[in-house]
Amino acid sequence: MQQKTIHTAATKQVALVAHDNKKQELVAWCQKHKADLAPHTLYGTGTTGAIIERETGLTINKLISGPLGGDQQIGSLITEGKVDFLIFFWDPFQPMPHDPDVKALLRIAAVWNIPVACNRSSADVMVGSTLFRGSFERQVPDYDSYLKERLG
Ligand code: PGA
Repeated sequence: MQQKTIHTAATKQVALVAHDNKKQELVAWCQKHKADLAPHTLYGTGTTGAIIERETGLTINKLISGPLGGDQQIGSLITEGKVDFLIFFWDPFQPMPHDPDVKALLRIAAVWNIPVACNRSSADVMVGSTLFRGSFERQVPDYDSYLKERLG
């Protein structure tokens, strides 16, 4: 598939999701990195977003709860170019019934070349990167040429 380069601005759109057993870990991570996160636009699935907001005071644009479609809303925002980073603490010890949602969200993040952090240390690396604060170029699918190829 042909790719094109897009510009990712210094102010990012960051999506935050955590499964139930991982929520406190994500809250603790957000508390630790509150100053790094605050300048950016933050999205979260319903419960994760509400807990982070309550515990940290960060402003989160809350979507619907994950099991009701919130993960898919984040996937949809990714396709619209409205998510630049995904922090997704999924629970490897509770695969069901989240499996299809995990798979779908990780797949669409891979398609759109979104940096993803699935645990605390990768989130630390992500937030410590100069790219988290600065602008950078990113390759994404070139939808116009994709469609032209398919239509013949
Ligand atoms: P929640 O959704 O933040 O509403 O719990 C997360 C998930 O389970 O994917």
